[in-house]
Order: sequence, then C-alpha cells, then structure tokens
Amino acid sequence: WYVEDLGSTNGTYVSGRRISRRVPVNNGELIQVGSAILKFMAVSDVEAAWYEEIHRVAIYDGLTQIHNRRYFEEFLDREVARAQRHQRPLALLIFDIDHFKQINDRLGHLAGDAALRLMAGVVNRRIRREELFARYAGDEFVVVLPEADLAQAEEFGGQLCRLVAETELTFQGHRLPVTVSVGVATLDENMHGAQTLIQAADSALYRAKHAGRNTVSSSNPTASVGCWP
Ligand code: GH3
Ligand code: MG
Repeated sequence: WYVEDLGSTNGTYVSGRRISRRVPVNNGELIQVGSAILKFMAVSDVEAAWYEEIHRVAIYDGLTQIHNRRYFEEFLDREVARAQRHQRPLALLIFDIDHFKQINDRLGHLAGDAALRLMAGVVNRRIRREELFARYAGDEFVVVLPEADLAQAEEFGGQLCRLVAETELTFQGHRLPVTVSVGVATLDENMHGAQTLIQAADSALYRAKHAGRNTVSSSNPTASVGCWP
C-alpha cells in the first residue's frame, strides 16, 4: 500500500512527515490529509481481528469469561477419546451453587450475576493449563481433569468446595453466601463416551445435594464428604 500526494494545497502527512512522492504505508500508521487524520489498517488485519472476536465469543461465556458449554463438550469428547485410546485416567467434576435462587431473590439478579462471576474467577485461578474449567449451564460448572484418578479427583473436589466456602465474596457491600456441591466421576471401561461420564458426575452431584449441600460426592456411592471450613 502506498500514499501519494497529487499536489494538494494543505499537504499530506504520513506519521507526521509531509510527503510528495509515493511512500509505502504500514499497518497502524497515521495519514493526515488536511485537518483529517486517518489510521491505516490492512483489510486482512481487520478481518483477522473480526474472526478472532467471533471465535472468542463462540467459545467463552460472556458473563464469567471462562469457557462455555460448547467448548467443554468438544474438549471432553477429545479427552475421552484420548484416555480410552491410551488407557489413561480421566476425571470430570460437575458443581452447582447451593440455593443460588435465594441470592437472586434476596439481593437481586445483579448480585446473582456477580456471585457467578466472582466464584468463577476464584476457581479459575486454581485451574492448570491442561485442565478445563467451563460454565455448563446457569449456576452449574464443570472441571475436566486429564490424568486424574478417582482419589485425586475427590481430593480436588474437596479443595474446590472448601475454597469457595472460605472465600468471602461481596457485591455492593453485601456478602454473597456462596457454597457449592460437587459431583465427581471418572471414566471407566464400561462407559460409551463423554455423555455417560457426564451422567455419572451429574448423579454424584445429585447425591451431594441430598447429602446436605456444601459437599462432595463421587461415583463411589459410599463417599459423600461435607466440606465445611
Ligand atoms: P440448589 O441448591 O438445589 O442448586 O438450589 P438453587 O436455588 O441453586 O437451584 P437451581 O440450581 O435450580 O437454581 C438455578 C438458578 O440460577 C435459577 C436461575 O434463575 C438462576 N440463574 C441461571 N442463570 C443465571 C444467570 O446468568 N444470572 C443469574 N443472576 N441467575 C441465573
Ligand atoms: Mg444451584
């Protein structure tokens, strides 16, 4: 791309320098024509930024800025295939905020939104690169732990549950009482795919809710451990 001044009265400037003959113009340079200043951007860069934004919106949850359900499902499919092919362990945690409706009802929807966003931020800081944390639906979240067996995943579930219970979250001066119930499951040879693993973790979550909430349950039905701080 070039800029050329064809004999204007006010002059043409590229990045502050007055030009006459053709000069090359680079991405991001300022072109001054009279009193107007234009910023030059190559079409390919604008398009790249646009596609990047579309991609970001497609795989992240707008409220919490963690990955969304679509990204999680693709990630889990890949991890299940990998774990089965190489006979490696794989764990899934599903957790859900306890009595979340009460936060919405007592403190308002914006406080509910803040609870989701703040809690997700607290948990996200504990997630390693090879793991995945995503918002599954509403107040339900998932963590995928590649290479974790049931004991390790239960341990992680306990840490997560205590971390949330112990962290003080506030919105406009009000304390947000957030605890979570956690369901833990691991892939076993009888499972057909990602969906069966999700069902197993979901059943464990159901047991954690029934065991009194603020609790971790796993696909080992005898284990329901409260995580009061
Ligand atoms: P439980 O302990 O059994 O989980 O009780 P709960 O009150 O948390 O019940 P449930 O999980 O069924 O409630 C989820 C509520 O989350 C219902 C819905 O109105 C609310 N919710 C879902 N998405 C959002 C959101 O993006 N923002 C807010 N503020 N509320 C949401
Ligand atoms: Mg809930």
